[in-house]
Parts: sequence; structure tokens; C-alpha cells
Amino acid sequence: TQVYNFSSGPAMLPADVLRRAQNELCDWQGLGTSVMEISHRSKEFIQVAEEAEKDFRDLLQIPSNYKVLFCHGGGRGQFAGVPLNILGDKTTADYVDGGYWASSAVKEAHKYCNPNVIDAKVTVDGLRAIKPMSEWQVSENSAYLHFCPNETIDGIAIHEAPDFGDTVVVADYSSSILSHPMDVSRFGVIYAGAQKNIGPAGLTLVIVREDLLGKAHKACPSILDYTVLNDNDSMFNTPPTFAWYLSGLVFKWLKEQGGVETMDKINRAKAELLYGVIDKSDFYRNDVASANRSRMNVPFQLADSALDKLFLEESFAAGLHALKGHRVVGGMRASIYNAMPLEGVKALTNFMVDFERRHG
Ligand code: PLP
Repeated sequence: TQVYNFSSGPAMLPADVLRRAQNELCDWQGLGTSVMEISHRSKEFIQVAEEAEKDFRDLLQIPSNYKVLFCHGGGRGQFAGVPLNILGDKTTADYVDGGYWASSAVKEAHKYCNPNVIDAKVTVDGLRAIKPMSEWQVSENSAYLHFCPNETIDGIAIHEAPDFGDTVVVADYSSSILSHPMDVSRFGVIYAGAQKNIGPAGLTLVIVREDLLGKAHKACPSILDYTVLNDNDSMFNTPPTFAWYLSGLVFKWLKEQGGVETMDKINRAKAELLYGVIDKSDFYRNDVASANRSRMNVPFQLADSALDKLFLEESFAAGLHALKGHRVVGGMRASIYNAMPLEGVKALTNFMVDFERRHG
């Protein structure tokens, strides 16, 4: 059976990329050794690193006054990295709370400042939604405004592009980076754990506007200090070289597909198909307002939760893996990142329609 993996992580890679990596795993570029075994300071690896950065910059059209850092520490590392680098002499920052990950960032920020929390969660006609950006009250003395555009667990997304004048906007793009075109110049810092749309866990991408460098708190660990990382070309300590290499292959694959514009079209088509099947029936339900529905993570419930177990067993047997919802939400969740082809979502919706026919 063809297997489609709807897991939310920790590494969703296009099948073509995995096959290529498999082919060159033991003998990379005829060196008779694996890319993960060569020095990160060798000219061969420096070329991998530089090409990955260039391709990433091309894909998101990152302006030249932004630095790209390849870091350790994941999204949670940046929950600390952001305040430690960007607060400067300020003592507060605005944090928009739209879901699980945004509120986790607030918890970490409390160690370093007094976050001003903007609760953006609202219920509209019984559906979960996010207040529009025009209603976010930015405080005067805040160092930056932090938000999470795609809540991986809640299945909630903020599709608006920020427009807050001189305010430094910081965004956690861990689960939606590279899934659509974006205007990087609207942000001060963008960060993303690699493990959804980029590559395997262990690598974190940070895009930082260069005028924000040089302000790190004196207690900021060097491995989180954007200036130290930038001055050392992200090789202050040993970088996660294999994850960097694999991410580079993903960037090349994305370019071959037609870049983020093409991914956006495919991602919209996938999401439309899946939400369409959910909305058409009373058997399945998603309770997020249409304007805030995530195109990456689609949580859904069966009207009769007694059928959950059977749904998971039968879907797994049909090659549709990892559909169990996150433990804090329950029900089902289909993560449909860039690496999930439209055929995978078609297989899922065909299964859902058939399951309803047999058990509805
Ligand atoms: N932010 C978002 C949006 C996430 O989805 C996740 C993990 O799933 C994190 C942050 C935490 O990332 P990490 O586990 O790399 O620390």
C-alpha cells in the first residue's frame, strides 16, 4: 500500500528528497564518505551551507539587509532567543496569544521581561477565530510584537500580513514557513524549527533584520546570540550538518516545483479538498472559522467519538498514517505540509467518504 504520513512532525520530507539522500548517504559526491562525516569547515560542506542559504533566500526573496542563521534549539530555543536578543533596554514586549504555541512563547518570555499579552482568541458564531490585526492593541514601550501565524495544534492560522509601522514584528513560522509567498520586509525576526516544512528536527532557521543585531542581553548564551552566530556564519559551535544538508535538498526540490507560489496553490487545493469533505457532512466537524483555518494542520472530530478508534485503525490499514489528534485537542488531525502531495489528501478524503458511508 502507498503510505501517506499525516504526522505533524518531527520531519516531513518529500519522497524525492529522501530517495536522493538515500542514494548518496554512504558515498557523497564520490568522496567515499557520508556528508554527515565531513568537517563543517571543509570546502565541500561550506558549499552545501552557502547553497542552502542562497536557495532559501531565493525562495522567500529575503532582502539583503536580513541575515539568515542556521541554529540549534528549535522553536522553543527561540522563545528564549527572541527576548534575549531583541529586548535591548526595554522591559516589555507584546505577545499575541492565538493558541498553544503563542502562549508557550509567553511563558518563556516571562523569564526575561513582562510580556503584554494580547488575547486574540475569540468565538464567532460558535467557531474559534482570531481577532483581526487591526484590533491588536500594541503598547507604547514594547520592544517588539510577537505572534504565531500557524498554530500547529489548534489548527488556527493568521493569514493577514502584518503592517505595524515601526514596530518590530517577530513571528514563529515553525509550521508554515515556505508554504506560501511572504513579504519578509514586514518583519524584524522570523524563526522556524525546521521539522515541518524545511527538514529534519535539530535545525532552526532565523531570519533577522541586521539593525536588530548587537543588542543581546549580556547573559544570552552565545549559541542563541544572533550576532555571535552571524559573525561565525552559523558555525560558532558545530552546526547540525546533516539536517542543514537535507534542508538544502528540500530547498532545491521546492525550486524545482516552482517555488513557494506553486506550493501555495497546491496547499490551498489540498486544504480546500479536505475542509470541503468535512463541511459537507454532519459526520465530521471542524470548529475553526473559515478565515482562520490552517492550511497546514487540519484538526477534525468525528460526531460520534466512539468511532475514533476504528477510524484510526482503518485509516492506518489503508496507508493513511498518524491521523490521531494532539493529546490536548483530541479527535483527528491531518498535517498537510509541503511534502504532502495532493494525491495524499485525495486518498484521505476518499477514505473519509467511504468510512462515513459504512459507519454513518
Ligand atoms: N512553534 C510552533 C508553531 C510549533 O509547531 C512547535 C512545535 O511543534 C514549536 C514552536 C516548538 O518547536 P520545538 O519543538 O522545535 O522547540
